[in-house]
Amino acid sequence: MAGYIPDDVVERIKSESDIVSVVSAFVSLKKSGKDYKGLCPFHQEKTPSFFVIPSKGFYHCFGCGAGGNAVNFIMAHERLDYPDALRFLANKAGITIPETKSGAKSDIEALYEALALAGAFFASSLKGESGARVIEYLHSRDITSKSVGEFGIGYAPSGWDNLIRFVSSKGLSPATLEKVGLAAKKDNYYDRFRNRLMIPIRALSGRIVGFGGRVLPGNDDAAKYINTPETDIYKKGKLLFGLDLARDEIRSKNEAIVVEGYFDLISLYQRGIKNVVAVSGTGFTTDQAALLARFCEKVVLLYDSDSAGIKAAYRACGMLYSKGFPPKIALLPKGFDPDSFIRSNGPNELIKVLSHAGSLVDFIASKIGGKFQAQPANLQKRILDAIREIIEPIEYDVTRMAILGQLKEKLQVDLETLMGVKRTGKLLMVNTDKSEMAIYEKRENEFIHLLLSHPELINKCAEVDSSLFVNENKARIFELIRELYDKGDGVRIADLFDRMESDEQRRLLSEIAIINNETVDIERLLRGYLEKFQTIARDRRREELKSLIVEAENKSDRDRLIELTREFNELQSRGGNG
Ligand SMILES: [Zn+2]
Repeated sequence: MAGYIPDDVVERIKSESDIVSVVSAFVSLKKSGKDYKGLCPFHQEKTPSFFVIPSKGFYHCFGCGAGGNAVNFIMAHERLDYPDALRFLANKAGITIPETKSGAKSDIEALYEALALAGAFFASSLKGESGARVIEYLHSRDITSKSVGEFGIGYAPSGWDNLIRFVSSKGLSPATLEKVGLAAKKDNYYDRFRNRLMIPIRALSGRIVGFGGRVLPGNDDAAKYINTPETDIYKKGKLLFGLDLARDEIRSKNEAIVVEGYFDLISLYQRGIKNVVAVSGTGFTTDQAALLARFCEKVVLLYDSDSAGIKAAYRACGMLYSKGFPPKIALLPKGFDPDSFIRSNGPNELIKVLSHAGSLVDFIASKIGGKFQAQPANLQKRILDAIREIIEPIEYDVTRMAILGQLKEKLQVDLETLMGVKRTGKLLMVNTDKSEMAIYEKRENEFIHLLLSHPELINKCAEVDSSLFVNENKARIFELIRELYDKGDGVRIADLFDRMESDEQRRLLSEIAIINNETVDIERLLRGYLEKFQTIARDRRREELKSLIVEAENKSDRDRLIELTREFNELQSRGGNG
């Protein structure tokens, strides 16, 4: 349990957290009628099916079913529990929460806190005596003091327990430091990062989720980089270094530049090329491609010019294609990485290189420099392997075929035949779900939707018992609507989301809330639903009676048999089938 947040503060946080501005910090939203739409942050997609409904204060994704109010969005997106999500929103809105001392922070929040404390500690260690040497090193790499501050670069001093002692003095246990990979344990806990340059890795929210620790000159036998390990809040393949700072620039330029190293990024950023992100500790993944797709439509890969860099760029192209990007590759002169290039040639030359970035097909063609058939056999094989590696992760046949088509033209070879690429078209699932269940489910959705739009109709639903629903989650939603209505505060959808007891209920509620039904004759519609519920109740009682009659017969209970049979006949005559 986290500390208690007073109800009036909760209300204030909720009313000041406008769903559109909360969501658009993470998703590019475009106006769509009265509502907004964008690419869903909870599943990978290329055409927007994620909607935000400001008038009702909720979001819904038609692709994966995610849905909820502003607090739910932060809970799901930042992986926070309810009180921490409220704190997050309070912080954004500049609302101070009068915290009571009782209650510890949640586990996840403790991880964030440990990382934030460590970040502050590393940054302050730069100011110490040994820190001066590190600053000198940074300046030798042309990293400005402004960048050091902006990126929160710090220093983990030599010694075994500097960080541990610091966080302990702030009331946090070394065990929490161990959980985020900053401490380890043999007999006692000790600092895992010693005498290293520390670069904080931040999530989109700007919170530190991990660190990259770079070796300092003079320690050349140690590993060049150590990253903190993956945790519940740090998944290397799912975030991009620098995106928290670069987001707005990427959005406004509609283009992201991807580099491979922290220093490549910092070097470009401080020279004014700010729409740049870096992979950290992994190859480029489809998750990262999906992440970028939320902010831009164009991606340029600016990797090292060595063969490892080119290979990594090829692979990244595959991931990007599969998420709908036509990626471009910018080629640096031999021997350069982005950092060394911009340092020796300046930003304008780098911008020139970026503007000459070509498609993957151009890139391959320029590498080959002529007809494919004219190449020696061993090179042909290598080219094909490379192409296969790019093509294989691409999910969409249309893209795959288009790339092969272009390569065929450029290289004058029928790659499709050469590579034996098959058209593995995924068949669209034909919707055959016309079962009775589906009809019930649909009717229940429409019924709840009607109540959401006209809560006063609850008054006429006295005879609707939640047991009559085929879907028990919808039954629960119905009960909760009734409870909220009976409290007399009105039924607001955003409030209802707070009362949902599971993700499934939230999913269903947003699915129902977003139904677009324009009915004029509400009373008639309601009558229709009520009649259906009556039929269900009658059918159910009839089935019940059948077995009760059999039971009475077996017991030779004449009186009971007569009574049950009468009821059965009455039900039968009132209609229905069976
Ligand atoms: Zn989705």
